[in-house]
Amino acid sequence: MKKIVMKFGGTALATGENIRRVANLVADSTKQGYSVIVVVSALNHTTDELCEAAEQANKRNEAYILKFKQKMLEKHSAAAMKAIENRRVLEETGQIIEKTLDEIEKVLIGISYVGELTPKSRDYVVSFGERLSAPLVWGTLRDLKLESQWFTGKEAGIVTDANFGEASPLMNVTIHHLKEKIGPLLEKKVIPVVTGYIAATQDGVVTTLGRGGSDYTATLLAAALAVDEVWIWTDVDGLMTADPKIIPSAKMLPELSYQEAAEMAIFGAKAMHPRALEPIMREKIPARIRNVFNPKNPGTLIASTQTARRRDVVKAIALIKDAAMVNVSGAGMVGAPGSYAKIFDVLGKNNVNVMMISTAVSEANISLIIKRNLLGRALSTLEIALLGRGLVSEVTAEDDVCVIAVMGANMKGTLGVASRIFSAVARTGINVRMIAQGSSELNVSFVVKEKDGEAAVRAIHEEFKLDKM
Ligand code: ADP
Ligand code: ASP
Ligand code: MG
Repeated sequence: MKKIVMKFGGTALATGENIRRVANLVADSTKQGYSVIVVVSALNHTTDELCEAAEQANKRNEAYILKFKQKMLEKHSAAAMKAIENRRVLEETGQIIEKTLDEIEKVLIGISYVGELTPKSRDYVVSFGERLSAPLVWGTLRDLKLESQWFTGKEAGIVTDANFGEASPLMNVTIHHLKEKIGPLLEKKVIPVVTGYIAATQDGVVTTLGRGGSDYTATLLAAALAVDEVWIWTDVDGLMTADPKIIPSAKMLPELSYQEAAEMAIFGAKAMHPRALEPIMREKIPARIRNVFNPKNPGTLIASTQTARRRDVVKAIALIKDAAMVNVSGAGMVGAPGSYAKIFDVLGKNNVNVMMISTAVSEANISLIIKRNLLGRALSTLEIALLGRGLVSEVTAEDDVCVIAVMGANMKGTLGVASRIFSAVARTGINVRMIAQGSSELNVSFVVKEKDGEAAVRAIHEEFKLDKM
C-alpha cells in the first residue's frame, strides 16, 4: 500500500468549506488505498495574527488580548460549524478549541504582566495557530467516518535545538520518535494529523521551525516513515515560473530536480520552506506541490530525475521582498587578512543570516543583504564591534530594497544569460544596486529598490518568454 504525507497550507485551510474539501481529499485517497499522514498549517493569517497579539501583550494592551481571543474563537468556531456535521464530534472539537483559547489568553496575559516578550515566549504564542487547526481537521475526518488521532509536533516527537523562531530538528532522535509514535497508527488504519511548524527542545520547551515550517514537518515525517511521496497542498497549481500573484501568466513547472526546487525555495519562491527538501533529498522521496482547488492537476513533481527535455536556460524568477542592504566600508580593510571574517563572525554570533554579498577588488567596501527585520540588530552589533578600531570607518544601510533571483539548471555554462537579464531590466529604466552569481551558476541574483521589484520580474519573465513555456 502506498504511503503519502499530505501537508495542507494555511490558504488550503482558510475556511470551514476548505477544511471539508481537504478532509474529502484525504478520504478519497484512503478509498484509493493510500495510507495518509496529514500535516496541517494554521488557518490562513492566524500565525501573523498571533505575532501581532504577542506584540500587543508585550505593550500591556489587555483590551487587545480579550478582543483577540474573541476573534479567534469566532474564526475557528465558524470553521468547525461549516466543516463538521455530527453534533457530538462538533461539540468535542469545540471544547478543544475553547480550552486551547483559554490557554492562549493566559499566556498573553502573562506576557503583559511581565512586560517581556522573549523569542521563547513568542514561539509558545505562535504555536497556537496549528494547535487550533489540527483538531478542526481531525474532527472533520472523524465526521467523514475515518479513524484519526491528532498530535502536536512535540507529542509526535519532533525534537529541536533551542534556536527559537528558527529551530533545527535533531534528526536522529526525531526520526526515531516519529517512527515509534506515528508509524504504528498506519498499520491500524488510523490517520495521524500532526501540527506543522511546531516542535520542542529536549526539555519539552515549545519551538518553531521558522515561518512556512509546516513543509519541513511534512518532509521530516516522510523521511521517518519512508513514505512513497509527499504532497504539499497549497492554493496554486505547483511551482511556477514566477509568483502568479505578480505575473498572472506564470506557467506551472511540471518537473524539477531537488537542486532546482531547493534553489527556488532558498531564493524566495514562497511555495516551499527552504530546508524542507533536506530530509527527502537524502532518502530520494519525491515531493509534489499541488492545488487543493484543482486536484485533477498532478502539480509540480520534485524528484532526483533531472529533466533533460526542458532546454530553457531560465526556469523561474523569484522576488524576495523585505530585504535590507548593509554597506561596510573602510580603507583599513584593504589588504588586511581576516577583515571580512570579522564582519561575518559578528553577524553570525548575533543570528543575522546573510543572504547575499558583494565586494569590490579594492576591498574597501563590502555590501551584504539581510532580512529587513534584522537590520537594527545587524547595524548595532556591527557598529559596536567594528567602528573606531581602524578597520571599518562607516556602516550604512538601505532598508527599501528587494532581491530578484533568476534560476535554472541549464544556466550553467550558457553564455549571455546575465547580459540578457540586465539588458531587459535596463530597458525598463530600473537601476540595479548589487549583483551576485553563485558559482553553482544555477542562479543570478540582484538587488533593486523595492518599488521596482515587480517590474523587474515582469521584464525578465517577458525577455525569456516564460509564459510561452
Ligand atoms: P501555504 O499556505 O500553502 O504554505 P504559501 O503562501 O506558503 O502557502 O505558498 C503559496 C504561495 O506562494 C502562492 O500562493 C504563491 O503566491 C506564492 N509563490 C511565490 N513564488 C511562487 C512560485 N514560483 N511558484 C508558486 N507559488 C509561488
Ligand atoms: N503557520 C506557519 C506560518 O504561517 C507555518 C506554515 O504555515 O507553514 O509560517
Ligand atoms: Mg507555506
